[in-house]
Amino acid sequence: MQDCIFCRIIAGDISADLVYQNENMVVFRDINPVAPVHLLVVPRRHIKDILELAAAEDGLDLMGAVLRALPEIAAKVGVTQGFRLINNCGPDGGQTIPHIHFHLIGGQKLGEKLL
Ligand code: AMP
Ligand code: ZN
Repeated sequence: MQDCIFCRIIAGDISADLVYQNENMVVFRDINPVAPVHLLVVPRRHIKDILELAAAEDGLDLMGAVLRALPEIAAKVGVTQGFRLINNCGPDGGQTIPHIHFHLIGGQKLGEKLL
């Protein structure tokens, strides 16, 4: 999608600090990090949010692919003591970019709330 910032990053039109990619997803550093490690795990396909993912025929496959990639991603950025995985859905959920993504946050002991 032309007007989607994450689609443009995935297409290579906008640069990002890429840390991992495979056929299903790209992972890059959040431009406005809230912790020493703050990644965005972004499925390549333009799906608006987690509800649209849930409704997709292959939604569970894609969700599974994200889960399966987590150990490699976590190892790559060295979050050996754990991390937080967050999905914001819709305006009330604090989602600002309508292309599904998961925040992977860590690199420090996290307090009660960050996002
Ligand atoms: P959300 O509010 O859950 O939709 O998350 C969107 C995230 O994308 C925010 O944490 C932003 O800081 C981040 N973001 C926006 N533009 C960029 C960009 N060009 N590169 C990396 N992260 C970005
Ligand atoms: Zn998109």
